[in-house]
This record gives sequence, structure tokens and C-alpha cells, in this order.
Amino acid sequence: MIPDPTEKDFQWATRLWNTLVVGDESTGQQGGIWDMPMVGRYQRTGENELTFTHIMGDVMKEDILGTTLFDKHEWIKSLAQGIGWVIIDEVVNASMEEYDDPAEPALVDIGKVWVCPGCSLIYTVRGIDCPERVLVEGVCLNTKCGEVLPEHHRGVFNHVDDTALVAKMEATERLIAIDEGDYPPRPIEPLGEDIMPFEGQSEEE
Ligand SMILES: [Zn+2]
Repeated sequence: MIPDPTEKDFQWATRLWNTLVVGDESTGQQGGIWDMPMVGRYQRTGENELTFTHIMGDVMKEDILGTTLFDKHEWIKSLAQGIGWVIIDEVVNASMEEYDDPAEPALVDIGKVWVCPGCSLIYTVRGIDCPERVLVEGVCLNTKCGEVLPEHHRGVFNHVDDTALVAKMEATERLIAIDEGDYPPRPIEPLGEDIMPFEGQSEEE
């Protein structure tokens, strides 16, 4: 009922899934989460592996096109197969039927910006349309930072911009170098001699 995935679908999936962090049990790293609206939650559990962890909605109910949640899940599996990924779906551990997708921010919060006072990472609350979004749990993603984010940025997808953080780090390095004498500031121009002729002119009037 759903047309087979196209080349464009394969490209989309490759790009999207590769932005997710790879989960690693040995280090405790949680895999990145991808929520497919009306289907459920998938978590990256390996280099080329997603695990279907939560069902979102009624499994048997057909949508206006006559497709069920599992038809869509099967389509995602064929999509994965086409790009050499595997979908593990034997460990669906919870239903999201009564679950209002927590990773989708409230519309009134989308676009809100917060600059971390600790490290200058810039967080923007984003909806499902942003391919580079990441799920932010509650603490600044910069592991050296530890600042707690405002509530509307927590548990939802944010776009994270590190340009200010990088600029700040570079400036800090230069400041340290100046302190240590490795980076002498430019000598201050002597102003005194330039001012003298004007004093002379005013005396002539
Ligand atoms: Zn921070």
C-alpha cells in the first residue's frame, strides 16, 4: 500500500540515522533516538542498527490511506534494508499509546533560544522538521560544563550551535597566551607627538 522507498528516501534515512549517536552498552552511552510520528520510537543501537523500542498509537487502526502502524514500520524496515541497516523489533518494551510524544516540543516553545552561560553553546528548541536536532536531557551537552537548561529546552529536540563556544575558546587561549607573554599585544601608538602641532596652530590664531 505504501510505495517502495525511493533513492531520495534512502538518502534521507542515511543522513538522518547517521546523525544519531551510536549506543554502546560497555560505556553506558545511550543511543540517539529517532521518533517517527504515528509509528514509534527507534534508537540507534549499533553502527548500522536501529531498535524499535516504543509503539506510538493504535497498531491495528488504519489511517486515511488505509495503512496501519505496522505497514509503516515494515516500510521503515525495507528502507533500512536498502541502505544496509538492520531494524531490530523484537524488543518493543512499551507502548506509547497514552504517550504524548515527549520529544516533540510545544509549538509555543519552538524557536526559543538559550545561550549556556557556562560555555556559550547556543540551544534552539526545534520541531521534527529540523534534521540536525538532538534530544537534550537536561544538562548542557558540553561534558565540561554542567549547566542545567531551562525547562522548555529539556527532554525535547534542540538544534545546538557551537560557533560562539568555539570563538570563546579561541579568545580564551589568546588571553592565556598574552598572560604568559607568548602573544604580545600590538604596541600602543604614541599619541603625544601627533597632538603637539594642533596646540601650535591654536596659538597662531
Ligand atoms: Zn554549557
